[in-house]
Amino acid sequence: MKRGEERARKLVEEGCVKRLLFMPSERILWIVVGDEGDNLVDKDVNFCTCSHFYFRTIGQPSNLCAHLAALDLAVASRRYESLTMSDAEYVTVLRLFFSDLLYRLSRRA
Ligand SMILES: [Zn+2]
Repeated sequence: MKRGEERARKLVEEGCVKRLLFMPSERILWIVVGDEGDNLVDKDVNFCTCSHFYFRTIGQPSNLCAHLAALDLAVASRRYESLTMSDAEYVTVLRLFFSDLLYRLSRRA
């Protein structure tokens, strides 16, 4: 088993994958809690807000981060936590993820 797969399995086992359902729109956001903090992950477009994604996955799409692998595994095995939130909280949640991302990137500069 590759290191990334082991890491992904551990994230799923530790309950790090969360599904946020926003009502009444039924929008869904997937969150994977990692070492650097919470990551917003989208399986459909293979997107993640972690550093690995920006520095390794972009330019080398086969090099997925552990969060994307964990999300695949969690959905396949139905092992994730589901939370329901209101649409009024949607923008606040997005803002948190992207301000966190800006903070992480600013520390790399
Ligand atoms: Zn990631």
